[in-house]
Amino acid sequence: MSPRLPLAPVVSFFLVAASSLQAADNRPVMLDVDAREAPRKIFHAKLTFPAVPGSLTLAYPKWVPGEHGPTGPIADLVALKFSADKNPIPWKRDPADMYLFRVEVPPGAQSVEAALDYVSPAETGGFSSGSSATANLTLISWNQLLLYPADRKPDEISFAASLRLPEGWQWAGALDAAAGQSLEGIRFEPVSLATLVDSPVLAGAHLRVIALTRDPSVHRLDMAADSEAALEMSSELEAQYRSLVAETGALYGTRHYRHYDFLLTLSDHTAHFGLEHHESSDDRVDERSLIDADRRKLMAGLLPHEMTHSWNGKYRRPADLAIGSFQEPMHGDLLWVYEGLTEYLGQVLAARSGLLTPQQYREELALTAAEMDHQKGRAWRPLQDTAVAAQILYGARSDWAAWRRGVDFYPEGELLWLEADTTIRRESRGKKSLDDFCRLFLGGKSGAPMVVPYTFEDVIATLNRILPYDWKSFWRTRLDSARPGVPLTGLAEGGWKLVYTREIPDMQRAAEVTRKITDVRYSLGISVHEDGTISDAVPESPAAAAGVGPGMKVVAVNGRRWSPAILRDAIARSGSRPIELLVDNGEFFRTFRLDYAGPERYPHLERDTTRPDLLSQIIHPLASPATQTKKEKPAR
Ligand SMILES: [Zn+2]
Repeated sequence: MSPRLPLAPVVSFFLVAASSLQAADNRPVMLDVDAREAPRKIFHAKLTFPAVPGSLTLAYPKWVPGEHGPTGPIADLVALKFSADKNPIPWKRDPADMYLFRVEVPPGAQSVEAALDYVSPAETGGFSSGSSATANLTLISWNQLLLYPADRKPDEISFAASLRLPEGWQWAGALDAAAGQSLEGIRFEPVSLATLVDSPVLAGAHLRVIALTRDPSVHRLDMAADSEAALEMSSELEAQYRSLVAETGALYGTRHYRHYDFLLTLSDHTAHFGLEHHESSDDRVDERSLIDADRRKLMAGLLPHEMTHSWNGKYRRPADLAIGSFQEPMHGDLLWVYEGLTEYLGQVLAARSGLLTPQQYREELALTAAEMDHQKGRAWRPLQDTAVAAQILYGARSDWAAWRRGVDFYPEGELLWLEADTTIRRESRGKKSLDDFCRLFLGGKSGAPMVVPYTFEDVIATLNRILPYDWKSFWRTRLDSARPGVPLTGLAEGGWKLVYTREIPDMQRAAEVTRKITDVRYSLGISVHEDGTISDAVPESPAAAAGVGPGMKVVAVNGRRWSPAILRDAIARSGSRPIELLVDNGEFFRTFRLDYAGPERYPHLERDTTRPDLLSQIIHPLASPATQTKKEKPAR
């Protein structure tokens, strides 16, 4: 049984491409996944490959698209066994590449079978290879459950997958189910391996599907939660997600999918992140994110970001990331376009669709600008290197974050694309905007998924078509220089100034409550977990200068047991009394005196009335009810 709404029969683009390339042997690889043990995080898979006698090398996907790193969870692959025509055959792992397995196929064999189990972690950190199953739900990422002939390209090889779920669970996803369901589970129409890996399945005991456009088969919000209560989103929120779909249509003018499914996991026991796909996105948040006001604010940008990737990242993709292989390294040098522009557009779309109020949008922007402005690592690491090093930075710890710099091509990319937007608006005297660039660069022609790669020069050439300008220097100086201070020109030209006041922004308060931290990085220079552990310290800040560092535990502030309120009171009164922190550093206690005599400081945007308010123009909705009806349906 499936909660899927009826779909028009369509043939996948990749399957058509695959058939013509596999004239010799177009029999699909059979992949049967048994997820009935998902609640205890065990998945069983059986694969059947058409046999070709001789040496056969099978690969486990290593480089996961969208994760920009070698994150295939090879260490969690267990119980691997091979057979030929059901007779066991031995296997060997490549001694240098842990993701390759070799078998000898005996002459005359018709098929090679592989059986493997995947043990999914319980830890909630990480991305798609982090926790993906609870007692009530699971998100199936096919790349974790399969091998494929290493000499074949993922878009040239056909897979016919099936899936068995725990009793009573329902599923959703971008794959088309084959007609006629069997007792063995859901059988999907064969697709290319690339499409299969691009099409995860969300399943659960509590699953709800909401149509986001008049034609319910085109845009769906599929939600699986650990409780029925978590699925009860307000009609107002539902309307905002409908607006989001309309706003993407108004912004890009085209759609590069046959239909689109948001696969939203609501659980406190899975990893929390978003992962983009052409026709869906894997979005995982706290269980009560749709019904708790603070959590709802914090997830406002997630779905707009991931959906934007269908255009920016999936349809248009940096050539060095569109390598058509799961085994070869991807290069992240253009991630400031892939992720930076998506971060900018995701926040803008969240505001245009009402998911963020204008005030919340500005608060987010102020928090981003303040954080980037305090990245002391700017002095040694140019922004470009955060993109090149993305494959190690995603997994980097968060202590001394400002010293390391993390994946800053997201937040700083947002500020730089805002500057590109205000530059186009200024230089064209309001006739053009970054929206025009998006339509030209990301729009193309509507249709089924395809990839159109690009280079740095293509980005510059398209910007120049919108507005002749020295775009090459614009980007290279901002990307390649190592210097303190984040560029705030985009904010300034947008009519707003970054200021610091005593007032905690509502978006920060929401983050502090849900993440159980106290963030006083812009006064003392630390953020503190609720148990007193210092989770991060900003280099050169009063706390860091005094000798305090991440991992130490604040026990008392000015002689009184620590609490967020006690710490904040001490900062507020620090003009008349210096701050003393009693700290537990691995069982040894010491008092640190902090040289700070200022008020609490939190970032905000303040209106500069000498300039036009471009920022408000940028987040003004584009879609009218008429465009919503006209543009909701992609061309098939
Ligand atoms: Zn992204």
